[in-house]
Amino acid sequence: MAGELVVIALGGNAIKQAHEQGFTEEQFKNVDVTAVQIAQLAKDGYRLVVTHGNGPQAGALLIQQEEAESHVPAQTLAVCGAMTQGQIGWMMQNRIAFHLAQKEHALPVCTVVTQVEVSKDDPDFQDPTKPVGPFYTKEEALKLKEKKGYIVKEVKPGIQRGWRRVVPSPEPLDIVEKKSINSLLAGGIIVIASGGGGIPVEKNEDGSYSGIDAVIDKDRAGFKLAQAVNADKYLILTDVEKAFINFNKPDQKALDTITVDRAEKYLAEGHFLMGSMGPKIQAAIRFVRWSGKEAIITSLDKAEDALQGKTGTHIIA
Ligand code: ADP
Ligand code: MG
Repeated sequence: MAGELVVIALGGNAIKQAHEQGFTEEQFKNVDVTAVQIAQLAKDGYRLVVTHGNGPQAGALLIQQEEAESHVPAQTLAVCGAMTQGQIGWMMQNRIAFHLAQKEHALPVCTVVTQVEVSKDDPDFQDPTKPVGPFYTKEEALKLKEKKGYIVKEVKPGIQRGWRRVVPSPEPLDIVEKKSINSLLAGGIIVIASGGGGIPVEKNEDGSYSGIDAVIDKDRAGFKLAQAVNADKYLILTDVEKAFINFNKPDQKALDTITVDRAEKYLAEGHFLMGSMGPKIQAAIRFVRWSGKEAIITSLDKAEDALQGKTGTHIIA
């Protein structure tokens, strides 16, 4: 019998640590650590589809576009999404294939540069909230607004405050390349897809797709991917072993196994921050509601244990 099909969503720490600058060697080193874990899961017999974030890489690429604009034209955000999917996908397929071979479990690994359909009617286009790219002074930000029509906002995160470009974060509706992804899976290939939430595209009347300058949440797109491949489990790997209620408060409590009803209640009560754990819980809830199966949130180094039920936050029907 074929092994369970698991969709894995990798967090930012799988590729770049917060304290690092993002040199190629640094990113490869992090990807390598991730690749060992993924190769082990494949060796355990799981069939795998991997997706990942691209925030730091896309942010860096946007700076490069703007800084070099007097020499070469800046590319759109959608193009930057495509470029980072290629970059991270290559790093992953390169290292996963190596570690599979090391474990004498050679399997082909392949990245699909993925488009994800969104609707121009999505309410997020009215009031974009997702910050992308660098911080600016107010003057720089207003100049970009004037010159390029960017929507800019003053944002106040913990460490750094300032002005940033904000873009819409619409709901993912469909994985355009789902047939290709399923064919690869049927051929026994480990697939990396929908990186950075996928390239947001809108369907035109003639059936073609056009790139949209937006950013899709990777955990939500990961759910659409799980749906597209009919996954048995949705495994979200981040930098915490479990989700908590009363997070960062004296009475914080780690969640082991909770029903989807309870997860919804906790989400509504505001236990999970919207820029981080919130979308993961939301995506997990969607997966469990849709499949009747299980979603798991844990840290990268606990992936195998969590799939064996030893740790992590499990959301069940
Ligand atoms: P990723 O790159 O994996 O998407 P995020 O930073 O977006 O990572 O999300 C993981 C972070 O979510 C954790 O490091 C933690 O600080 C934060 N977080 C917010 N609310 C919670 C919660 N209730 N329980 C656990 N972590 C939480
Ligand atoms: Mg995140």
